[in-house]
Amino acid sequence: MQYVSTRAGDKNGTGKSFSQILLEGLAPDGGLYMPESYPVVTGRELDAWRKLSYAELAFEILKKFADDIPEADLKALAQKTYTPEVYCNVREGDTAQDIAPLRVLGEKDGKKLMLLSLSNGPTLAFKDMAMQLLGNLFEYALSRQNAELNILGATSGDTGSAAEYAMRGKKGIRVFMLSPYRKMSAFQTAQMFSLQDPNIYNIAIEGVFDDCQDIVKAVSNDLSYKTRQKIGTVNSINWARVVAQVVYYFRAYLKATADNSEKVSFTVPSGNFGNICAGHIARMMGLPIDRLVVATNENDVLDEFFRSGVYRVRKSDETWHTSSPSMDISKASNFERFVYDLLGRDGRRVSHLFRQIETKGFFDLSDSQKGDGDEFSRVPSYGFESGKSTHADRIATIRKVSSEYGITIDPHTADGIKVAWEHQQKGVPMIVLETAQAAKFNETIFEALGHNASRPAGFENIEGLPQRFTVMPVDAGEVKKFIAERTGL
Ligand SMILES: *Cc1c(COP(=O)(O)O)cnc(C)c1O
Repeated sequence: MQYVSTRAGDKNGTGKSFSQILLEGLAPDGGLYMPESYPVVTGRELDAWRKLSYAELAFEILKKFADDIPEADLKALAQKTYTPEVYCNVREGDTAQDIAPLRVLGEKDGKKLMLLSLSNGPTLAFKDMAMQLLGNLFEYALSRQNAELNILGATSGDTGSAAEYAMRGKKGIRVFMLSPYRKMSAFQTAQMFSLQDPNIYNIAIEGVFDDCQDIVKAVSNDLSYKTRQKIGTVNSINWARVVAQVVYYFRAYLKATADNSEKVSFTVPSGNFGNICAGHIARMMGLPIDRLVVATNENDVLDEFFRSGVYRVRKSDETWHTSSPSMDISKASNFERFVYDLLGRDGRRVSHLFRQIETKGFFDLSDSQKGDGDEFSRVPSYGFESGKSTHADRIATIRKVSSEYGITIDPHTADGIKVAWEHQQKGVPMIVLETAQAAKFNETIFEALGHNASRPAGFENIEGLPQRFTVMPVDAGEVKKFIAERTGL
């Protein structure tokens, strides 16, 4: 399997292997890596996969994309990652053995609504599903090259803690994670700062999230420093993260159906388009997915595109802080992967359109006369639909799900369920992806239900644990010095 950039005009001779792109972010031309073609899964394979455990299924799918890693090694990595011990924080009635438990919420007029729980890992959000694999893959790849990596990131919550829990104690890896000092919730702060592993460094910046991001950019733009200090990232455009997410679409399909003639639809609470991009890839591989429904919050960049064909990124003063904060985005960094397929894999046009985003702030695929193309008319053939949700919708949905189905869901999942209700069809099960646990967003739960969200065992007193972090001013120079002193490079 060879990988190409979404912006490469000429595909010949530019292919890279999975291991070559594993530790990389963007391609050198500014594009995102994509497989040269999608491996197709046959009905016979699907039949055989119905009997597999989650780890076994992950191995079968991964080996199609990571064909330059010896199979025995890949199998061991999948087995080590997807264990009931790692994904132990399950809801009452679910079993940790399932890794990603699927439950029926209800069925009315032939419309079945299901929930796929993806947030049972150490940080109680779906990002653990991919990040835990990434930690093991990184450690494996670095040890083969006898190399080391210093991960530098900025976080306002979920991504940073998922990265730290994936990389803690890993040989050859250090994590330097910047977060805005005293701006995260007490729970999120405690999750990150209570880690005592010597390879994890929490740096609390006396500023806001954008200041943290600017420091990461400033450090990364100093190329000689970046090379000498072996600086890398783990952001959502990493290809291995997307592939790891493909696995649970297959898993959910195989659990929801008895026969490959049946179809299912998915609704996905979306921000950077990473999660639902994996659903698109599963569908391209031949998984019988009817529709892929993108659910956004008030930050509706994606809903706007799937309704109108116009992709218009937002400025920071048009990006709202909402009660589903992990979906508060101004542009969707993985969206370019879908656009690449939508435009018939024409890298030159993708490159042109995303450069236009930098200058004009938008592109329009609704009409080739007055816009930039007419490919919007092809969107339905990829199964995509969309909807949006507001704070009032989230509160109402958390209440309704609690009273009708007897479970507490988090605000992001509520955005998903609200939109799923609007897109359900008779005879096709609708599976909503649960992207976080309610305990992480207790304020909103309290507002909706008038009581606190219950916490999984072991998290009861997380705010009381000793914390390990360093406070620093908004100063890239100080951060650079801090890293260099720790790495000795
Ligand atoms: C990251 C995240 C999302 C958005 O996922 P994308 O892959 O960026 O679309 C949704 N919900 C939660 C809880 C998240 O952490």
